[in-house]
This record gives sequence, structure tokens and C-alpha cells, in this order.
Amino acid sequence: MTQKIHTSVIGSYPISINTQDMMNDYFAEQQMSWTQYIEQAVHDMTTAGIDYVSDGQTRDPFIQLFTRKLKGCRIRERTEIIGRIEYHTPITVPDQIYAKRLLPRHVRLIGVLTGPYTLTKSCVDSFYHDEKELAFDFAKALRKELEILLKHVDFISIDEPVFSNEIPEYAYELIKMITNGLSHPTRLHVCGDVSRIIPQLIDMPVDILSHEFKATPHLFDVFREYPDRKKICVGAVRSDDVTIESVEEIVTHVKKAIAIFDGNVVQIAPDCGQRLLPRDIAFQKLKNLAAAGEVLNGG
Ligand SMILES: [Zn+2]
Repeated sequence: MTQKIHTSVIGSYPISINTQDMMNDYFAEQQMSWTQYIEQAVHDMTTAGIDYVSDGQTRDPFIQLFTRKLKGCRIRERTEIIGRIEYHTPITVPDQIYAKRLLPRHVRLIGVLTGPYTLTKSCVDSFYHDEKELAFDFAKALRKELEILLKHVDFISIDEPVFSNEIPEYAYELIKMITNGLSHPTRLHVCGDVSRIIPQLIDMPVDILSHEFKATPHLFDVFREYPDRKKICVGAVRSDDVTIESVEEIVTHVKKAIAIFDGNVVQIAPDCGQRLLPRDIAFQKLKNLAAAGEVLNGG
């Protein structure tokens, strides 16, 4: 193994909500205090010792985070598509700029995009009545967001959890519309059991694949048939379980991955976004992940 293994997050992070601030913001019709939640997320990730951090996606759940700012979307319990999807204002860029300012020099920032297919399948379409057309319009809008985001982040992660249930035959073109010609490294995160779609995933136009290897360890057995094809971000602590994995347990798990993927193991991360965990547990998991990273890199 020659390459350093970097520690990373997937995206979302739990925050401690200050209800008084929220009330004040609500009545003032603004979100002046929102930056404190980005500060909490970035503080925890950097204090834990993570190499690639995110802004914590604290503002909204990962669908509304995007649809709230896109033309053609109406936010209800689920987002309803009521017109053509168009990009008209930066979506995650302001939070990312704020997060970037908080980072120590050696820490890198991940630009996280919810994937176009996951957005498509999560909305109620009252306009297109054509899933593929809607998906490509989402992809076009995400590419525009990305072009601004690139000036502020070091790495791009596309989050497509829906692929594990259903992957369209145009998935490659859809992702390519976002990643085409980028100089930044890219990662595709698909959680859930992806064992049936690994051949499609390893052909995706991204640099790194990210999966839930901790919750679904049988993925190792399926990936074993395709060991040298793609760089891997190994899910090494669970995002759906409050049990804190020990440093030794994480090291053993990642060594299992290295035995299969060898130098293609370039990142380790939680299995998925950590939003649903209590904050202290999410932090302790990241801390142990970072410590395991040091052990694995011979430090
Ligand atoms: Zn996930």
C-alpha cells in the first residue's frame, strides 16, 4: 500500500438546536443564527481529526436542501414539481464558503450534492410526467451549482442512495452530466445494499465509490470479483447504530478492505451521513475513525 488513506465524512451531521434562536429567526424571518450550526458541525469534524469534512448539511434535509432553491419546485411534505427545473441562485455555496473560513489549513472541504436521480425519485412530479427528462434537468441544475462550488471546495461527493433500490439505464450519462471534465476528484456515495449493481457502479464516471461496508459487510465478497477497477471509500463506522466502534475494530475492518482493494482504499468514512445519531456519539465515532486512520497510515 503506497497511498495515504484519508478520513472523510459523507455529508450530514447532527446539531444541537438552540430553540430560542430558532424562534427569534422565525419571527425575524431570517436565519441569522444559522452559522452556529455550521460551526458546530465543522468544529466536531476538525476536532475529531477528519481530513475531508463537510459543512454538515445542517440547513435542511438533503432533498429540500436543493429543491427549496430550484425553480420549478414547491416544498410541501414532499417536494412537488410544478414547473421546469431551473437553477437561479446558489444552493449550498453560501454555507460552504462559511465552512471553508472555519477550516484549519490542512483540512479539505467536500462539496456534497444530492444526486439527480435521488432528487427525481423523492419528488412528486406534477409537471414533466417523464422521469428521465426531470432527472436530466436536475443534473443540469446541479452542474451549474457545481461550477460555482468548485471555487470553494476541494472534492465533490454525489449522494445517490436511491441507486441501491433502482438504477436507471441512463445512470452513467446522468452522472457524467455532473462530473464531465472536472479537475476536482469526485466520489459517488450509494448507501444500502449495492451488491446487485456493482458492475454499473464500477463503470460510473467518478474517481471514488463510497458504500456502507460496515452495515453490509457481504459487499466485500461481491466486490472481491472486481478488485482493481475503482478507488474506494470504505464505510467503517455505522450511521444507524449508537454503538461506538473501537479503534481496533475499525482498523481490522479496513484491513479486510485493503486485503481486497489494496491501494485502491483511499478513504475511510462513516457508512452514511450521521444526522440521525446523537451529536456526542457521532463525534466519538469520527474521533475513533481518525485514530484508526493514523494507525493504518503507520502513524
Ligand atoms: Zn448514505
